Amino acid sequence: MNLILLGPPGAGKGTQAKLLQDRHGVAQISTGDMLRAEVRSGSEIGLQAKAIMERGDLVPDAIITAMLALRVTKPDCARGFILDGFPRTVPQAEALDVMLGEMGLALHHVIELKVDDGALVERIAGRFTCASCGTGYHDRFKPTQQPGVCDVCGSHEFVRRADDKAETVAARLDAYHRQTAPLLPYYAAQGKLKHVDGMADMATVSGQIEAVLEGQQSLDSGVGRA
Ligand code: AMP
Repeated sequence: MNLILLGPPGAGKGTQAKLLQDRHGVAQISTGDMLRAEVRSGSEIGLQAKAIMERGDLVPDAIITAMLALRVTKPDCARGFILDGFPRTVPQAEALDVMLGEMGLALHHVIELKVDDGALVERIAGRFTCASCGTGYHDRFKPTQQPGVCDVCGSHEFVRRADDKAETVAARLDAYHRQTAPLLPYYAAQGKLKHVDGMADMATVSGQIEAVLEGQQSLDSGVGRA
């Protein structure tokens, strides 16, 4: 099962991708997480990407596509993958089509998480993550049970993304509408686009995604090969 989750920053792609990974044993591939790891390691890609990400712009297609081409060959992708944050431009989508064709893999669904822009700034600006185990929280919607203590691992260290500041969120939303939204007609033309209501609570969104997948899995057993 190979899927794309599409939607603006803060739509819940990462949260839903993690749930799908746990439930179906497919790999979550977040190009944002991969780039943040490159920035932390101080690699050449990280040095190039850092300032671009902090402005809320998109990293050049060639860099991101080369990163993804390597990632999908890793063993954890054997049962399939969920792309979270890729593709973000039409050239990336075209490169993905070529890549999957060469690997003999199908893309089963592209699921759009539909959300109102107005809700996104509040959703994004309140996000934080446990520095130790990576569990995600939100100041208002999902605080830790005990202030300052991770519910899962007990750590007291938390991190906020440098690009989750309100000023940068506006630039990221703009990039989404200008560069990523054209993927909606691109995948609709391929007959792959499905929509779920990203404004609903996490469990409802997850149920809607599963309903999409059940439709697909009755057509082929749900496993990655075309
Ligand atoms: P995300 O974690 O998906 O919100 O991504 C964080 C930032 O990483 C984005 O604002 C972009 O600067 C960069 N980025 C992530 N994925 C891509 C992509 N597919 N193409 C270009 N830039 C990306």
